[in-house]
Amino acid sequence: MPFELPRLKYAYSALEPVIDAMTVEIHHAKHQATYTKNLNTALEKYPEFASKSIIEILKDLSSIPEDVRAAVKNNGGGYYNHSLYWENLTSNGSGQPSGKLAEAIDSTFGGFAGFKEQMEKAGLTRFGSGWAWLSKKSDGSLILHSTANQDCPLSEGLTPLMTIDVWEHAYYLKYQNRRADYLSAIWPIIDWKDVETKFLA
Ligand code: MN
Repeated sequence: MPFELPRLKYAYSALEPVIDAMTVEIHHAKHQATYTKNLNTALEKYPEFASKSIIEILKDLSSIPEDVRAAVKNNGGGYYNHSLYWENLTSNGSGQPSGKLAEAIDSTFGGFAGFKEQMEKAGLTRFGSGWAWLSKKSDGSLILHSTANQDCPLSEGLTPLMTIDVWEHAYYLKYQNRRADYLSAIWPIIDWKDVETKFLA
């Protein structure tokens, strides 16, 4: 099995009270585990892709055989997007970006408050299931956007830095239908060091 469910760097309860332990556990051990299993199943027939990284695969979906391409897009996206989401979160957040990332956010979005507002809006206005993203373009500049379902910015030529899962399974137990409340509550648990590392890579 080439792809394995990543271990979290914190306990399921570590993100409370923003995200409750049961939501994190079901999200990781059930939802992401299923994407991982289904990604492996989709690629069983094509072992030549087993040696590739998920980043290589999502950057070039057209190279995936047509009969499994949709399954790889959906489950590979589910595998990768959740991995990034978990990496972006921490029990020990600083509350705001620093260094070169903070400078880039300030100059692109008119300050951190403006950035948060636009990111929350991207998540809130994504109809149905999907993701809000801060990504880096090939020229190094920042872009704030959203994707549907499990679609990944890597497949659009972007480098994802930070994401918020806005599928209902990410927030429903605690926030029910109140996606806006989940989005506005998440900022204290963002790991800005992780986002900055990805920005500088
Ligand atoms: Mn999810």
